[in-house]
Amino acid sequence: MATRPEAIEPQQERVGWTIEDSADLYRITSWGEPYFFINDAGHVAVRALDAASTTMDIVAIVNELRRRGIKFPILIRFQDVLRAQVKRINEAFREAIAESGYENRYLGVYPIKVNQLHEVVDELLDAGRPYGMGLECGSKAELLATLPHVDNDTLLVCNGVKDRTMLTLMINGQRLGQNVVPVIEKYSEFTDLKNLAQAAGFKPQLGVRVRLLSRGSGRWSESSGADSKFGLTSTELMRLVDELEKNDLRDKLVLLHCHIGSQIADIQAVKRATKEVTQIYAALIRRGMKLKYLDVGGGLGVNYDKGHYEEDAGINYSLQEYANAVVFTVKEVCDANEVPMPILVTESGRALTAHHSVLIVPVIGAQSKDDSSVELVVPKDYEDSVQALGRILDYLPTIQSPGELLEAYHDAKERLDEVGTLFTLGYLPLEQRALAEALYWRVLNRILKAAQQDQELANSPEIADLEASLTDQYLCNFSVFQSMLDHWAIGQPFPIMPIDRLAEEPRRRGVLVDLTCDSDGKVRHYVSSRDNRYLPLHKLDPQQPYYLGFFLMGAYEDIVGDAHNLFGRVAEAHVYADAEEPGNFWIEKIIPGTAVQDMLAQVQYFPNDLHRRMSELVRAKIQSGVVRPTQGMEILDYYMATFSANTYCDSRNMEREEHRV
Ligand SMILES: *Cc1c(COP(=O)(O)O)cnc(C)c1O
Repeated sequence: MATRPEAIEPQQERVGWTIEDSADLYRITSWGEPYFFINDAGHVAVRALDAASTTMDIVAIVNELRRRGIKFPILIRFQDVLRAQVKRINEAFREAIAESGYENRYLGVYPIKVNQLHEVVDELLDAGRPYGMGLECGSKAELLATLPHVDNDTLLVCNGVKDRTMLTLMINGQRLGQNVVPVIEKYSEFTDLKNLAQAAGFKPQLGVRVRLLSRGSGRWSESSGADSKFGLTSTELMRLVDELEKNDLRDKLVLLHCHIGSQIADIQAVKRATKEVTQIYAALIRRGMKLKYLDVGGGLGVNYDKGHYEEDAGINYSLQEYANAVVFTVKEVCDANEVPMPILVTESGRALTAHHSVLIVPVIGAQSKDDSSVELVVPKDYEDSVQALGRILDYLPTIQSPGELLEAYHDAKERLDEVGTLFTLGYLPLEQRALAEALYWRVLNRILKAAQQDQELANSPEIADLEASLTDQYLCNFSVFQSMLDHWAIGQPFPIMPIDRLAEEPRRRGVLVDLTCDSDGKVRHYVSSRDNRYLPLHKLDPQQPYYLGFFLMGAYEDIVGDAHNLFGRVAEAHVYADAEEPGNFWIEKIIPGTAVQDMLAQVQYFPNDLHRRMSELVRAKIQSGVVRPTQGMEILDYYMATFSANTYCDSRNMEREEHRV
């Protein structure tokens, strides 16, 4: 029995597909505003906001990179977008302050863990200079990277768990006149800080992170709440205050900090947390503390996908609404408590950096489940189950009702199951199985096309599943683990779309797979106005490369894949059992963890350059009489000596944590 080969696929193409249709399909306005759009050529383009009429065509950039022989994949950084985001955030806060009559100012600090790349930090600092923008660090390596980049007026907020080395570096910074604020994350750090300061004959300023009862929302909400791993409980905070009073350090507590998690989905969560932390601020002021800064942390969200799926990653507020929520809430609580308003600090990282980088990934090939150019002929002596699949394909064109169509679908599934069973039991040759599978996929394709003529049937869950099973695999030249770790780890969706051919209807359903030999090495959900299990893509043209843009990659993804927070490889010990040895083991090998300087080099900071910057800074301080020359040299030596340290905390060099609440 033979089935007719189809010379041409039944035409589904809508006449007059426009770039607006593509914009809607890939939801570019939702996640790309105000930077990304589709230009008249049907290419993705970027607006450089400082000159609104200047737009950059990403396809042109890619062509130039190809002309120069650059290898792909490649991450393109749009430095203007970075600068524009700094401006937008600061302007939003200025507007909220003017509108509310808030009686103090706003000061952003950039948490470098979001993207430590030297060029990114320099660009942000430069763009932030008119607004006094500072930095935030959270580890030893980040501390070394940031210290020479701040001076008296720039705030450096030091979060994260600290050992004595780190605390000493922070005290030294203060001795040089830098505005460094160690933020106490756990009570024992205060004990260490106090002892070190006493030994140095210096009274350091400090901040404290409090554990809020209010929670964030979304994927990162575990940074907050009573059982979070960060911050002091209110009981510990009271103990700290007592201790500050006893040691005549009342006026040294300058900053109150909280952070309820990244990518806060709901503006109500921002308001609740801000209210709670401002109440604590007001209580501390009334107690006689001289707090200057109220730091509400990061969490300002980015719209990766404000879609219609339950697990999507959208946020329900705008940048201006966020700024208003923070400013108005702090003002309201301060007014009610009759306390002065603090300098408002935020640590937005994701919102500053996400938009600026785009990963350009070439598609290497696509694999389809039904090759319609192949004629499917079932030889007479083939098994019944295979014959049956051939018959289903033959009678499909005569089907009239949706009910019959579903019946044919169920029959086909049943026949394929039979084929599988027969094959496994050894009753069916591989050739017959191969033909059966080809027939099955062709049947499913035809059923889908017929079902799409019927609105109700097309929207049924069964047909949606069928459609999702008919995806093609697009093999892409990248690694999910290196470039999209948050997608692999926590299911964070990223907007992905072709950068070219957007005036043409994408008629294939693609699933993107990467080069790794790992079944997890694929993209599992997509941002589009269709089903999020696949991405509508174009048929590959063998003559032309096909590039996909992975957007909003600038926050965390650049860095988290290899060196999140610049923590390096942990040390390893290779241990063997041996009954002859004491304790029945021997250690074959110990491999030390990565040194701070090696991690720094990965993001283009080099000891020579940092040494030069730090010694210029120290020399200036000696000249202006801030420190004595010997002191200055000691501080410089200590800074340089830390480059060879391990990136993790030295637990032998820290106050032992005792849990007393
Ligand atoms: C990670 C982190 C941030 C940055 O948060 P975003 O959501 O990227 O703005 C800010 N502060 C602290 C303490 C953090 O741990």
